[in-house]
Amino acid sequence: MSYTYDDQNIFAKILRGEIPNTTVLETEHSLAFRDLYPQAPTHVLVIPKGAYVSYDHFAEEASAAEIVDYTRAIAEVCRLEGVSLTTGDGFRMISNAGADGVQEVPHLHIHILGGRHLGRMLAKA
Ligand code: AMP
Repeated sequence: MSYTYDDQNIFAKILRGEIPNTTVLETEHSLAFRDLYPQAPTHVLVIPKGAYVSYDHFAEEASAAEIVDYTRAIAEVCRLEGVSLTTGDGFRMISNAGADGVQEVPHLHIHILGGRHLGRMLAKA
C-alpha cells in the first residue's frame, strides 16, 4: 500500500500562502511556524515543504537533501527558541501519525515543545 496525501489539508494551504502563519524559520525544504493553540511557552510546528503525510512517509520517500534540511531545521528552531541543550533547558518533539496517533492535520509536522517542565510523556489511557 502507498501513502495518500490530501493537498487540501491546512498545512498545504499554509505552504501555498492561502492562509497566514507566524513563521519562525524557512529553509529550502522546510517551514517552521507557531502552533495556533500553544500548549507550552514554546510550541512550534516544523513541516517539510514536500507532500508527506507522516514521518514514516517522509523517512521512506524524501530525498537525502530534504531529510538533511528538515533535520537541521528542527535543530535550528530549538536553538532559536532557546530550548536546545546549548541555549536552554530542553524540549520535547512529538509527531502524531494516523488514527491511533491522533493526527489532526495530515501533513507531516513535528511539534517542538518547551519553555516549561513538560511532565511525563504520556498520561495513562
Ligand atoms: P496534530 O494533532 O499532531 O495533527 O496537531 C495539529 C496541530 O496543528 C495542533 O496542535 C493545532 O493547534 C495546530 N494547528 C491547526 N491549525 C493551525 C494553523 N492554521 N496554524 C498553526 N497551527 C495550527
